Amino acid sequence: MSAVRTEIGMGRSILIVDDEPIQRESLMQMILLYGYQVETAESGEEAISMLQNYTFDLLLLDLNMPGMSGFDVIDYIVEHNVPSKVIVVSGDASFDSAREALKKGAHDFVKKPYAPDELLNTIKNAASKKELEDSHEVMSTKLSESEYLHRFIVDHSPDIVFMLDTDGRFTFLNDTVYKSLGFSKNDLLGQHYSKMVSGQSKEQAQFVFTERRAGERKSRNIELKLKCQGESEYRYSDTTSMSIMLNQSDHNVNGQFQGTYGVARDITEKKQAQEVINFQAYHDLLTNLPNRALMEDRLQIAITQSKRNNQKLAVMFLDLDRFKWVNDTMGHTMGDRLLQAVSQRLESCLRSGDTLARFGGDEFTLVLPQVKQREDASIIAEKVLNEFKTPFMIDEHELFVSASIGIAVYPEAGTCMESLIKSADLAMYCVKERGKNGFEFYNEEMSGISNSKLMMERDLRKALMNDELRVCYQPQVNAETEEVVGFEALVRWEHAENGLVFPDEFIPIAEETGLILEVGNFVMETACKDLAEWRASGIDNIRVSINFSAPQVDQDDFIDRIVQTLQKYNLPGSALEVEITENIIMNDMAHVIQKLRKLTTLGIKIAVDDFGTGYSSLSYLQHFPVNTLKIDKSFVNSIHVNKGGTSIVNAIVAMAQGLNLNLIAEGVETDPQLEYLKSLGCAEIQGWLFGKAESAETTLEMLEKIRNGSALRELAA
Ligand code: C2E
Ligand code: MG
Ligand code: MG
Repeated sequence: MSAVRTEIGMGRSILIVDDEPIQRESLMQMILLYGYQVETAESGEEAISMLQNYTFDLLLLDLNMPGMSGFDVIDYIVEHNVPSKVIVVSGDASFDSAREALKKGAHDFVKKPYAPDELLNTIKNAASKKELEDSHEVMSTKLSESEYLHRFIVDHSPDIVFMLDTDGRFTFLNDTVYKSLGFSKNDLLGQHYSKMVSGQSKEQAQFVFTERRAGERKSRNIELKLKCQGESEYRYSDTTSMSIMLNQSDHNVNGQFQGTYGVARDITEKKQAQEVINFQAYHDLLTNLPNRALMEDRLQIAITQSKRNNQKLAVMFLDLDRFKWVNDTMGHTMGDRLLQAVSQRLESCLRSGDTLARFGGDEFTLVLPQVKQREDASIIAEKVLNEFKTPFMIDEHELFVSASIGIAVYPEAGTCMESLIKSADLAMYCVKERGKNGFEFYNEEMSGISNSKLMMERDLRKALMNDELRVCYQPQVNAETEEVVGFEALVRWEHAENGLVFPDEFIPIAEETGLILEVGNFVMETACKDLAEWRASGIDNIRVSINFSAPQVDQDDFIDRIVQTLQKYNLPGSALEVEITENIIMNDMAHVIQKLRKLTTLGIKIAVDDFGTGYSSLSYLQHFPVNTLKIDKSFVNSIHVNKGGTSIVNAIVAMAQGLNLNLIAEGVETDPQLEYLKSLGCAEIQGWLFGKAESAETTLEMLEKIRNGSALRELAA
């Protein structure tokens, strides 16, 4: 019995308020039996003070008490939101007072004297009602907590979260919409989404948000431009939207379209970065002009159109005439600014549809997709040249530069992109050749020179700019001991397209065009630097022979340059041998001899290269300040093959000995050649038998191996 009773009360707490002790006691005894926790108060005042300190589920309240009445207690409870249910237990039989108590907020009313069952039932009902209310309260607290949490998550999302109704109007937006786009969400709620989507994206958005999709196709991603309030006009967003479908019944698979749920992520920064990258891929960053890739793209399109419409088009190749001079004398920053200024002026000559591009360095190209006749292109070329008549003002500097322009017209000068560019380039080069500052159309005759001197000269100029030249070293050995006594510095050209180019192919052109001065300076500088490095690593007693061409020797500063370079690398004169050909001496004997004398006083040795191939100058030799004769490899080659050949070798050796000159035989490839030369008394040998010309690094490695006991011949083999 008691177990059942305990279950009824389930530990709910009850406060009995009655001024009559007997009443209180009997009530308490009865209720305790049913498993309630009971406290008592003997007055309204005491009840209130207990309510202030404890919480009770129920109050059994007498109405008539001296001092504070039961009504006052009810008032207090209501006023203070005390969460207790009040059951009035009163001897006051009047219907009015019961009604008033209920009106004031009492839960129920039991009249004294009460039947215990009736009272217990009332208590039980009130208690279970209270329990329901309590659990409801817990639930709703939990609910609002959970809603708060979700709200928090949604509003703090970096993405805009939204819902649209079936007509595309916003029914929900999170706070991010304000942070991202500057729109208050209340302004947007109820509005059509198109209010937020920027012009070009509207059509796309229309499709996404109004299309009703189900199943796997329910959600989709698109990039949209969203309008923005504030500084920027719009922002890019990556928007995922999802059709919201409600399945009406389990059998209805298609469901009913409820609207759209979506998330929009701001990807403006990413987009902008992408735009920059795209721009960089197709533009020259110095001038912001299209680069070669974009120009080729446009040219290709223009060719296709011309082909289709049977029209002409022109490609112009423009090269600045004195740019290298500006770059060399005023510095690269000035050079860069000049290029920027030039490109601005060139742009002013364009018609819409024309493309001006920077091809590289100081070269620009112009694609003119619409030319009716050649004259259209010449008008533009003249306009461009005219622009160059006014000097360019950069800071306080007034720079005069002119341009050489080559024009290739489709289809005469070529029908594909490559040939048009090549023709324009060639025509430009002919302008340079003719004296620069002008323009010329490509013609048939020019094609003959495409692989010739002209192209070589152009390429060599580029090679010098792009650092494509290398210096290699071929050993020279003592014929008897086979010890290394020196190296000849021989220039090589690592051509970007043609691979390794040997000096016989480009030195003659370099000499003709004057480029040899730059080539020669490069070789001397490099050779002295390399020699200084070898000496620093402990390998001394080695000299380097450097070839000098006539234009170099002709220079007024020929001697000074040599002296300065030796000084720069802290090298003694004896470390250098200057190789010149007989022809150089014979052409301007008086001057050259004077210069050579100076060199010998500095301890520098003079070698006559390719001896025997030039003037028959044997008789002059005794007047020359010469130390060494180099027997040309063609004579060495003829040893044992041709009797006449060997007799020349014999004669040279005999004469050198007579004049007390050192002798080096060049082009020695075989042991019989070596033996023969030794038998004649030739002191030094150079040739593939002892090694070809190698890079500075390989040479140093070789020298170190020799120092550690290896023989050169083994290394060369
Ligand atoms: P060179 O001064 O008479 O140089 C000797 C040439 O003979 C080099 O050719 C060398 O590689 C080659 N040679 C050496 N041993 C043998 C061999 O056993 N067999 C054969 N078949 N050839 C051998 P390379 O390097 O092609 O140079 C050719 C010429 O170019 C040089 O003839 C020189 O007149 C000129 N040259 C090379 N470098 C320079 C330079 O820096 N300045 C100037 N002005 N001219 C240079
Ligand atoms: Mg030589
Ligand atoms: Mg030679």
